[in-house]
Amino acid sequence: MVTAGTGVILLASSGLCDVTLVRDGNPESVIVLEKKPTRSAQMGAFELQHHIKLITGAELPIVRGEAPADAKTVIRIGGENQSIKEEASVIRFKGNTILLTGGDTADYEEVDYRKQATFPPVNYHWKGSLFAVYDFLEDYCGVHFYGMDPLDTTYKKRSTLTVKEKDRYFVSKMDAFRDMFDDDYPAAHLIKNSRREHDLWKLRWRSSVTYGKVNHNTYSIYFAHWGKAKDPNLARAFKEKRHELFARGYEGKASSCGSFLESNYPGDANLPPQLCYTNPGTIDYYAAETLTYFRGGNVIGGWENMRGRIPTDKTLLPRFPGKPYFYPYEGNDTGAFCQCADCRKLAGETFSNTKFRFVSEIARKTAAADPAHPGVATLAYGSTLAYPDGFTFPEHVSVELCLVVYGWWHPAVYKKNLENYEKWVRGMKGKGPLTLWLYIYGPQHDAKYHFGGYKTFPQFYPWKMGEYMKRFAEDGLRGAFFECKMPRNFLETYVAAKLAYDSSLDPEKIIDGYFTDYYGDAGPVMKQFYREIEQTVWSGSICPKEWLKNPDTVTGPKGPIRPWWTTSLWSREVNWTLGSPERMRHFGGLIEKAQALVKTPEEKERLKRFIDIAWKPAVEGRREYDLYLKQKEIPPRVLGFSRIPDAAGGDPEKIDWSKAVKTEKWTDCNGNDNGSTAAVFAAADSKYLYLKFEEQRKPWLDQGLWTENVEFFFTADGKHPLYHFACGPKKEGVPTGYLYQLINDDLRQNPYDFQCRTVSIPADTSWTLLMAFPLNRLPLQNNTMMLDFFRMRHDGKKWDVSCWQPTYSVSGGKGMDSYGRMYLYPITVQEDQLKLLWRGSGTDIVKDPAASNGFAAVQDGNRSWYLSYPIPKEFPKDRFKVIIRYRLEAEKADYVTCGAHDWKAKKSVFSKKIPASEVNGKEYRDIEIGSASFTPDMSIYIGSVYTDGKWLKNSKDKHYLDFIRFEPAQ
Ligand SMILES: [Zn+2]
Repeated sequence: MVTAGTGVILLASSGLCDVTLVRDGNPESVIVLEKKPTRSAQMGAFELQHHIKLITGAELPIVRGEAPADAKTVIRIGGENQSIKEEASVIRFKGNTILLTGGDTADYEEVDYRKQATFPPVNYHWKGSLFAVYDFLEDYCGVHFYGMDPLDTTYKKRSTLTVKEKDRYFVSKMDAFRDMFDDDYPAAHLIKNSRREHDLWKLRWRSSVTYGKVNHNTYSIYFAHWGKAKDPNLARAFKEKRHELFARGYEGKASSCGSFLESNYPGDANLPPQLCYTNPGTIDYYAAETLTYFRGGNVIGGWENMRGRIPTDKTLLPRFPGKPYFYPYEGNDTGAFCQCADCRKLAGETFSNTKFRFVSEIARKTAAADPAHPGVATLAYGSTLAYPDGFTFPEHVSVELCLVVYGWWHPAVYKKNLENYEKWVRGMKGKGPLTLWLYIYGPQHDAKYHFGGYKTFPQFYPWKMGEYMKRFAEDGLRGAFFECKMPRNFLETYVAAKLAYDSSLDPEKIIDGYFTDYYGDAGPVMKQFYREIEQTVWSGSICPKEWLKNPDTVTGPKGPIRPWWTTSLWSREVNWTLGSPERMRHFGGLIEKAQALVKTPEEKERLKRFIDIAWKPAVEGRREYDLYLKQKEIPPRVLGFSRIPDAAGGDPEKIDWSKAVKTEKWTDCNGNDNGSTAAVFAAADSKYLYLKFEEQRKPWLDQGLWTENVEFFFTADGKHPLYHFACGPKKEGVPTGYLYQLINDDLRQNPYDFQCRTVSIPADTSWTLLMAFPLNRLPLQNNTMMLDFFRMRHDGKKWDVSCWQPTYSVSGGKGMDSYGRMYLYPITVQEDQLKLLWRGSGTDIVKDPAASNGFAAVQDGNRSWYLSYPIPKEFPKDRFKVIIRYRLEAEKADYVTCGAHDWKAKKSVFSKKIPASEVNGKEYRDIEIGSASFTPDMSIYIGSVYTDGKWLKNSKDKHYLDFIRFEPAQ
């Protein structure tokens, strides 16, 4: 309390005073640090000085030691904190002094405000005095730090700054750690923030790690007991080979072990992706590593010394007074666990039991070794997020739950995750601390890693984030790490960080404050924008029907998925159900309203950035999606032809091109006529695909390959791997090839040799390019593949592109939305391309040694037309003879029916009665059933078993279809 005679006037009504720091632009206060201030206090002084100058224009002096005698008000930062034994932040008013102090690490290195390397670190460093300054700036001076950029900091400019007297002593209940990692920094940021701004962002959001934080950390054991590492620093750690400590079952498999380990054991195909969790030696190894760290040393390849460059007597994981101690253990980022009998026996349905028993055993050993009971912290991540049923944790294990919260709008995902989360909370009650690793993502992540990189409609959910964080705090969770996508989802992350620091806050108020501070009068409109998106997404109304059928099964766009890792829900279809044309119009209207309401230059710039980051991609994404829907209705281009005899021997100059098939007219990428004269002619023999590109336009011979060329893309089924061929018009030019593969959400591009023979014939008014591709270098399956041809030219200003199959968007290596198709006749349709109605009861695919590929489609005798082949959109228009390879197993039959039907014309194309005597039995027979030209409105079907002129519905009778073959009819 303020006492009389201190020079500060008491207010009779409240007993609290206003203290003026700056009056009419002139400093009335001075910042005073101790003679030997902590790093945290120094940083606090700079931050306070900087922000008071932003508000008032006045620069408060910073002095050390004694306050100047004439100072009206003294702001002391740091000191008077000997009794504080936690990372508390303290604000105390006493006489003419405001004390901003707290629990600080005894680190007195000099801070240079311009250099982030001198700032107090986030990890294992208490910053109570600095956090007291931030609390003071936010709660007393009205400054808010909404993001990384200077424009994200809001405050009211005024020449006089007065604060209300109010003492405060605060400690965050999430005392283990609060931290964040911006996955999108700096790549997705339109505003390029410096590393200094990035580091300031983390401090201003009160990042601090004291104990229990985990990441992948099983490297040292390889360097000690797998073999000598390539890196000489790590090779020093080698003791002896003890391969029994590592996961079994991966010998010779060249398993994915992450680039760090792989680069240290180049070419080692036996390198194990994980450890053996039941070998006592592995447990002993990590008990020893834990105790080494606990006693103040470290291990080469261990926590914070991954590359072995730090002396092993340096403390890297310090102990904090009054806090528990956990060494982080987490295996490689692969689900490939040990396959030894003991590990497998324990595992059960998931690997959780084996893994948590392993870390528990380590913790039991380490806790018993010292009265301070050091323990182990680990992740519940991916497949091990499932609570280990039938297992009791010891006290000295801390678990960090990795939760994909941005996918919790899917009702089944939410149900399964919440049930599992509640098991964890119950199971760990009275045991070691539970902490969090939250994925604060949006559809932009799913699009990038799972759906070809389409432009997305945004997902906002700040209120849900508030609700979840409140719940986590009520359940006593002790730490939170946010893996976030800042530019789009910074408000969600801000709400999470605020509540991690102070769980007593009201999320509604935090969010309301943000919209008002950030957008002024446009705040309510922008709030409505966010609110409607969150409500729509979480209402379940955008879920496809099949996702809602069973609340205990999680179904995503590609079928059933595990509920623990749900980063693939936002397919293009689902995203644009959210961004429907009606909603796009509505939200577009809100944006226009907001544009009319923002007033200050800062508000206008913030709205402009929101539009650039979130709204413009949505508008472009919707336009591209509409084009995609339009093109899905247009039949893709098709090239179909029969092979020629093997006479050319791979020489494209020996082909009679007058007999080759030719592509339809080329267009621009959106299907519009652009006057292109380009065409490709195609022919094939048993070993080569021959192509001739021809164009009636003078080629540019002074250009590089990538500005004047043809580019072809080949794929088996429209997915990766994708084969990319490029060739320019120069006579001596060599074609180039790439192969794009998608491995574990990671796109890899490697050079690829098509072994293509090319002959370029540039002329004054034309360019001809002859090519011969060995068929075994192309992704041909069942004599068909998808492909597209491009003619690319860049004149230094813009692209001039023509193509065969319009793409409606070009994303090259990431895969395109549409391709043309090529068929080498005859066309063979296997059982997996058939439509099987009531598969599992009326029809099925079964193993059949008599079938050409070992499998056949089967239809029960009491079904008819359940087994069919709907003619696909990209089917050649030629006339075909249809042959089925078929057999029947019937007790009593005269004949069976089959044929082709035109659903649009509602009439039969042809039908056939096959005498049962020809096909009944175990052997397949080739039966010609008719000839026609086909359209996508038609189906080939298997009909009924007839006996005595009637369909005898006997479910024991079986139709077996090996394949359908289409041969060109003369
Ligand atoms: Zn094992």
